[in-house]
Amino acid sequence: MQKILSSSVQPSARDWVYQYLILNNIANHSDDPWIDTSLSKIPPKIYQLDWIPTLLSAENALHTWYSGDKRVALIAMEAAVAEIEKQEFWFLLPRLLNWAGNMALSENDILHAQKYLLKAEYLSKLRSDEFSLSLSNYNLYKMYYKLGQWEEALNHIQAARRLKEELPSINNDILQIYWYNEAVTYNHLHQYDKAKLAYLKASEYFQNGKKSDRYYVLDLRTQIAISLMEDDYERSNALVQKCISTATLFDLPYSLGRCYHKQAKLELTNKRYQQALSAVDASLKSYEKFDSASAILSAMKLKARIYESQGNFESAYDLAKQIYATEKEQLLLKVRDLTHAQETFDLARQVDELSLEVILNSNKLDRTNQYLDYAKWLGFLSIVMIFMMYARTYMIKRENARLVVRSSVDQLTGLHNRHYYYQQLVKGEAISLDQHYHLALLDIDHFKGINDSYGHLVGDEVLKQLAERILPWLLPQELFVRWGGEEFLLLIKADSQSIERLERVLKTLAIMPFNTSAGGLIVTSSIGVSGKVTPAQLLADESHFLEADERLYSAKLQGRNRVVTD
Ligand code: GH3
Ligand code: MG
Ligand code: MG
Repeated sequence: MQKILSSSVQPSARDWVYQYLILNNIANHSDDPWIDTSLSKIPPKIYQLDWIPTLLSAENALHTWYSGDKRVALIAMEAAVAEIEKQEFWFLLPRLLNWAGNMALSENDILHAQKYLLKAEYLSKLRSDEFSLSLSNYNLYKMYYKLGQWEEALNHIQAARRLKEELPSINNDILQIYWYNEAVTYNHLHQYDKAKLAYLKASEYFQNGKKSDRYYVLDLRTQIAISLMEDDYERSNALVQKCISTATLFDLPYSLGRCYHKQAKLELTNKRYQQALSAVDASLKSYEKFDSASAILSAMKLKARIYESQGNFESAYDLAKQIYATEKEQLLLKVRDLTHAQETFDLARQVDELSLEVILNSNKLDRTNQYLDYAKWLGFLSIVMIFMMYARTYMIKRENARLVVRSSVDQLTGLHNRHYYYQQLVKGEAISLDQHYHLALLDIDHFKGINDSYGHLVGDEVLKQLAERILPWLLPQELFVRWGGEEFLLLIKADSQSIERLERVLKTLAIMPFNTSAGGLIVTSSIGVSGKVTPAQLLADESHFLEADERLYSAKLQGRNRVVTD
């Protein structure tokens, strides 16, 4: 890098921008003094460009994504996208939308992924930005793959690949990946001849590529697939061993997991169940290291299949239950309720805004009187595109409705949930972003005892009534959400009366019995309260939440039915 920087004679503005962005990125990983020196040489007019700060914050979000808290990263990226839209830096938007879409995708937040990626695709087409268009097609491929819509997945991976092939300079590594994915998709479609051709193509591009570590392991996986298609188990076995040792050597946990996964499948085919089980366990261990939720699930499913083939139905059943719970938990955490019309409405509104932009542009062209036809064509195209987007959104919506999904509203109590709380910290529609708040965590006392003595349904009745009884105590611009289980989060305005108000809430809860099908029950709760904080501080720093949590814990220790502040 230092060499490149010192060798560029007379950098253009564009070169400077690149240098500035790259240096900022390196600064995330290292504090070598030469970075500062090089940064200081960049002309101020470059970093004063008005879109640079937002791009940098997006790149920071990306960095956080890889090395920090994924939730915080996603929220930061959403904020950057919103900012870019507000400032109308349309040329940057496809890139950021692709990043955001990809992040949402790996968190299984399909609805957001779809919204971002379709928009990225639409905008890059509009701007003839082939680089972004290829990327959004690749990301859309991943989305449809996740949804198991193989035909759509195939269309998109092929579109991504063709766009890359048309570029003047061939990127062998990317094309290797694209062909490999095309092959895998053909396999799902049971078109094995085409799959094999695609695997061979992937291998061909590997031969012409840089042959670095991860591409080498990908090629080994390609070769394994090919030899399995040729029923050459001996060769497959040898390749699997090589795959495992290479991925271990290069420390590539995800690839290592895939190699073990292949080994487990191979052993299963040969009915060597014990070996299959230890291979699948090894793959699970690697996936866990990589923290890949979807890979873990697929390995668990394979493990259940092995148990089943082995005749060990009890373990298969237990595992199936675990898979169901994990899948549900992931969906509950990450997928929004598609039946909730708000999201679709948002999408529609944003499309409207986009088309408005096109019309404005067309008018500008119109005024010059030179490109009248072009303007008409552009307007027509945008209408067609919008139409297509609606059609597609509808299709995915229908498909997604099959999944167990949730809205930002908790089904049992009707309160908002955790996701909504985080959303509000960023958007601040229901709260004030300038206000100081106390974060209060409320937990029902001995709730397990209620479930144990009277059953879960009575427990549910208590949860519902508790929500109903607390709601009237809230002031405007305050939040009350179900955090999970029998825990609730309150965001109440910090003033001289706020703690007293919480104490009164607890007192009335404790005095008035809950009216349940098992009769009137006295139920108490405990609250831990944080110091004064703004929504921005809550978002940036987990410690306020932890403070409330610790105080809740000490309320329990001190005998429950009380509020603990500092
Ligand atoms: P403590 O006073 O220390 O908080 O004791 P506790 O019994 O309330 O705490 P614990 O966390 O041990 O138990 C919480 C129980 O809440 C366990 C779980 O089964 C139950 N629970 C969680 N979600 C629900 C729900 O939606 N409905 C019902 N009925 N019970 C739930
Ligand atoms: Mg609890
Ligand atoms: Mg409790």
